[in-house]
Amino acid sequence: MRTALLHALQDRRERVIDLQRGLTAIPALGPENGGDGELRKMRYIEAQLARVGVTDLERIDAPDERVPEGIRPNLVARVPGRSPRTLWILGHVDVVPPGDLALWTSDPWTLAVDGDTLVGRGVEDNQQALVSGLLLAETLVASGATPELTLGLLCMADEETGNKYGLEYVLRVRPDLFRPDDLILVPDFGSADGAMLEVAEKAVLWLKISSTGTQCHGSTPHKGVNAMVAGAELTLRLLDLHKEFPAENPLFDPPASTFTPTRRDANVPNVNTVPGSDVFYMDCRILPQYAPDDVLAAARRLAREVEERRGVRVTVEAQHLLPTAPPTPADSEVVVRLIDAVRAVYGIEARPTGIGGSTVACLLRQRGLPAAVWCRVLSNCHEPNEKSRISNAIGDAQVFAHLLYPHE
Ligand SMILES: [Zn+2]
Repeated sequence: MRTALLHALQDRRERVIDLQRGLTAIPALGPENGGDGELRKMRYIEAQLARVGVTDLERIDAPDERVPEGIRPNLVARVPGRSPRTLWILGHVDVVPPGDLALWTSDPWTLAVDGDTLVGRGVEDNQQALVSGLLLAETLVASGATPELTLGLLCMADEETGNKYGLEYVLRVRPDLFRPDDLILVPDFGSADGAMLEVAEKAVLWLKISSTGTQCHGSTPHKGVNAMVAGAELTLRLLDLHKEFPAENPLFDPPASTFTPTRRDANVPNVNTVPGSDVFYMDCRILPQYAPDDVLAAARRLAREVEERRGVRVTVEAQHLLPTAPPTPADSEVVVRLIDAVRAVYGIEARPTGIGGSTVACLLRQRGLPAAVWCRVLSNCHEPNEKSRISNAIGDAQVFAHLLYPHE
């Protein structure tokens, strides 16, 4: 049965193009990005599913008064298998704005097709996942076969601007949606060969460090307190955070936590004034075994030392914090089966990997659901002339098809 399904998926090139064209033509931007949400695009997806006879559809709409129809839609579609146990494919419907139009060689909302390559806003992030899932659902229904596992597609809103109206909302109002033994796949990050299988993420902590001294004339520095010197000293001291949090985990590249000074705000506009204030930022990516609060406390302790030595006042704030979750174990069923499926379809060995960024999988892992993040992608999301490959959409659908028949 599985073999027939894989064959049927093989010649769906025209359908991939159709779906990508339809999806690309409907911009789904969150209100933060000046858009009116995902409803129109979600209705298109519902219509495509209904057309081919996927009847088990359920909407989980988050109220949001900022968009015209007052809702941010999430959609669950199911194709029943012999077991209620479900293979979930999660994809987000929203996209990011095209950015500078002059950098695009074609209209971002009109699909361009060049051989195996598709160009348009959203074709990779995250329409490739949506299309692979739709393709599999359609092909399955058309074949009349009942797979071993149930196929569940979850099409989500609001991934690009924080998930509050997307997966976070779904998990809050439908905590029963995912069963502990379901296989959950998030095809929203990967590599060009398909070898990267993301199972772990570092926590993200952005620190804002503000030093206040006393401004004075540059010719009489003894009359003031130079906040920039204090800030510069503290910048170097904070590089020592890695000594307090030295653990390494070979899953990640780089294997250790990272503590990186990044932005520095402008201070005085002229050269002959000693600055009385200095503000800089650090981007910290913290291994799951450490608590971000402990990093914050350590940064504050180092700041106290500089305060005393330099006579400034320093505040250290967490400007942004995305906590992480325990990694999905490399021997969990979703990972082991995915490695098998990727080998069968693409002939390569996928490796469990940790990343410094953050995906919706973290929200699932925080609830004890071992989600895996995988797809075969060009990795050019958010760029102008965003591209994806038709063959990847089809190949990924075949990988998912494999997972539906774990015992064949
Ligand atoms: Zn995405």
